[in-house]
Amino acid sequence: MRVKSIVTQLALFIRQRPGKPNVRTLLRFIALLIGMIFIFSVLFHYIMLREGQEHSWVTGFYWTLTVMSTLGFGDITFESDLGRAFSMFVLLSGVLFMLVLLPFTVIQFFYAPWIEARRQARAPDELPVDLRDHVIITRHDPVTAALINRLRRQRIDYVLLVPDRQEALRLHDEGLRVMVGQLDMPETYRNARLDQAALLVTTADDATDTKVIFVAREVAGKTPMIATVDNPRSRSVLSLAGAQHALNLTELVGESLAHRTIGGDAMTHVIDRLGNLQIAEANALRTPLVGNTIAENRIADLGVAVLGVWERGEFEVAQPDTVIGNNAVLVLGGTAEQLLNYDEAFAIYNVSGAPVVLIGCGRVGKATARALSNRGIQWCMIDRDPSRQADWMTDEQFLHGDAADVDVLKKAGIEKAPTVLITTHDDSTNVYLTLLLRDLRPDIQIISRATLEQNVRTLHRAGADFVMSTATLGASRIMNLLRHGSIVPIAEGLNIVRVAIPSALAGSRLTEVPVRKETGATVIATVVNGDMRINPNPADPLPTDGDLVLIGDEQTEQRFAELYGDSPA
Ligand code: ADP
Repeated sequence: MRVKSIVTQLALFIRQRPGKPNVRTLLRFIALLIGMIFIFSVLFHYIMLREGQEHSWVTGFYWTLTVMSTLGFGDITFESDLGRAFSMFVLLSGVLFMLVLLPFTVIQFFYAPWIEARRQARAPDELPVDLRDHVIITRHDPVTAALINRLRRQRIDYVLLVPDRQEALRLHDEGLRVMVGQLDMPETYRNARLDQAALLVTTADDATDTKVIFVAREVAGKTPMIATVDNPRSRSVLSLAGAQHALNLTELVGESLAHRTIGGDAMTHVIDRLGNLQIAEANALRTPLVGNTIAENRIADLGVAVLGVWERGEFEVAQPDTVIGNNAVLVLGGTAEQLLNYDEAFAIYNVSGAPVVLIGCGRVGKATARALSNRGIQWCMIDRDPSRQADWMTDEQFLHGDAADVDVLKKAGIEKAPTVLITTHDDSTNVYLTLLLRDLRPDIQIISRATLEQNVRTLHRAGADFVMSTATLGASRIMNLLRHGSIVPIAEGLNIVRVAIPSALAGSRLTEVPVRKETGATVIATVVNGDMRINPNPADPLPTDGDLVLIGDEQTEQRFAELYGDSPA
């Protein structure tokens, strides 16, 4: 331990010394040392002869090395004063040159530069000049970790900028590609080749993001920059600073949780867009759709395509014979006018029932409450901190208490509520509350927020019907921007993607190529010259030039690319 700290300190001391270390100096020093050993061996020979002792040349070298290294076996010794004075001189030169200067020189001119070169390779200060189309990330957090996973899957280059070298080395050892640089220096962005990058992503607090964007703008050229915003008012400041996109994840998660809530009206709620195709969701509860198959309901007559059906947290890709259940939420695709046709047909139905229960009045909780109100769904919020009540919440809408207390839950109306939404940012609390609520009400719809992507599965296992993590949502939105709007997340791990028709599939029929079996992807539309044809007949040949719209999990697109060699649209 002590030796280790001395070596570390010595290495640190040497590293701080100015001057360019080089191996040539080390070689020169070694040559000097060999020269000294040679001269001492010759002198040993002659002084021994003067004393009347005869030794071989090998013995001369042997004696010189044992004395210089202070090993001194004492098997060969001088008798005369001259010989002893010579021994002392050799000994002192040995101490100085072999024991002090040799290790010092090796460390200075070999070990330290070698370590430095290794550190440089692991956490460089700049990226190769010819690097392009990469994504520059300024912070490592749940959103960017999820983004990096997706970028890796899509084989898109990225770099994480880290101001502190030690932290950069630690992140490198975790398998991330890092670059060391201060976020408030334009030089950093120049060295990260920002002007050649595909995107800059900054996910810190609003003030830091604004500074990053403002500084990076100097070198950004045409590269778009995206920032996450906490306060909606920061949106305009960020845009003034130079950000092309501002993502309010709190609002997005809140809306996403509210969308899946059973209740409210039966109208369509657009969740995203893929070119001119709008993806929307609509409740089936208390509409004549319930109990019939998709084919029997003739929804296609309105021009709208049913892409899939959510039933209690399970998503099923729509087939003509899929029966629409009481709790079904339909995922619909169509143009804005087609969705309007649907709304006109279903506006008369109101599916709203008892108020839903909301747990946690943080930022996401408030955003969810607003989104529920916009959908005409009544709610009751529980929070153990009374100061969280917003001024726009009535006393009936806010209940002070701990959601782990069954009496509090009952007071909020849990026994009648169709849905409970858990919105705290602490995943452990959310898992705990999900287990408790599932036990209390086996039939209730449980919707939960997750902060980390890896906790989504745990929440599902605990009994949640629908889980949306900030990380997944943020990462998918950023991916969508990077891919020019060709990917829409519809649930945790489930996407609608638009890909160019690979030449291996051009002109072939889906009845002949087992695309779904091999890749897990379902083709839901074809696009030729901007004209989208939803639910193409699998017996018709695919167009030779155009795009496919697929629905599938996170790996689908990768398998598709590996099998058919496509490129993103
Ligand atoms: P956000 O990241 O959306 O701002 P927070 O995690 O900061 O969310 O807020 C969560 C809210 O949930 C807090 O106001 C906290 O008081 C509340 N909360 C956490 N656990 C419970 C619980 N068991 N019962 C009631 N309220 C809770």
